[in-house]
Amino acid sequence: MQVFNLGSINLDHVYRVGRLPAPGETVAARSLSTGLGGKGANQSVAVARAGARVCHIGAVGPDGDWAVARLEGFGVDCGYVARLSTVTGHAVIMVDDGAENSILIHPGANRALGADWVAEALAAAQPGDALLTQNETSAGIEAAALARARGMHVIHTAAPFDAAALRDLLPHLTLLVLNALEAEQMQAALGCGLADLGVPEVIVTRGAEGADWHLFAQAEVIRVPAFPVRAVDTTGAGDTFAGYLVAGLAQGLTRAQAARRAAAASAIAVCRAGAAEAIPAGAEVDAFLA
Ligand code: ADP
Repeated sequence: MQVFNLGSINLDHVYRVGRLPAPGETVAARSLSTGLGGKGANQSVAVARAGARVCHIGAVGPDGDWAVARLEGFGVDCGYVARLSTVTGHAVIMVDDGAENSILIHPGANRALGADWVAEALAAAQPGDALLTQNETSAGIEAAALARARGMHVIHTAAPFDAAALRDLLPHLTLLVLNALEAEQMQAALGCGLADLGVPEVIVTRGAEGADWHLFAQAEVIRVPAFPVRAVDTTGAGDTFAGYLVAGLAQGLTRAQAARRAAAASAIAVCRAGAAEAIPAGAEVDAFLA
């Protein structure tokens, strides 16, 4: 099973602060570090670090060479990362002493990606391959519809949350991944429970409290405990979880095995600063689980 990931690529500027600024307030940062980010890039890095092949479908601007080189350095196939004239997407991330974060994103090239480019990238996909998407690029709905029509698995992580975009995507999904806040927002916006979305499988992640994987056809829930660790930066926990999960399925693991490895990988990631750079290699995860 080949994994295709239609996803954002960002420059992440991470500021450490004593506390997050309130509206109208100015707070001085203690430090700044810049790295590769974007939910899409993070998820591709997680798939590659987990040891599975991943083709990233995305876009950067003229300032994006280093980001693509960084992705390639992690083993991600960037043959379908378009070079556009729009600025590369970027994020301003503030992380406080309690490891809580606050994030501002400028989508840039991520939202300038065309459906034709995605269709070209998916031309080589086979039934049974997987398409992973998040809500940080354009052409997500076209991609999901095309992938589902091709008999691919279509896995979506609904962040940043947008009820209208999610409603249009639902008919094309085979697996939806939400964090606890997104699950609440979704139920409030769509006025229905998880089982009524029409998506066969839904995972709700709950940070340090683990995750639940709902299999509606089997009326079964796989409980995925979190590993107790001392978190320093929870940025990218969900992306690490989703990438490792899809990689595990692509590698032929059972759902329970793939989810356990994903929980271990994200537990390691939250103990480190940064997003893509914090994602552990498969060997580290195996050692953690041993
Ligand atoms: P998101 O980053 O999308 O908000 P969550 O915070 O729910 O996602 O985290 C996703 C997964 O990462 C969790 O289900 C859990 O396995 C792991 N995780 C997140 N935070 C912690 C933590 N503090 N300790 C251990 N595992 C964590």
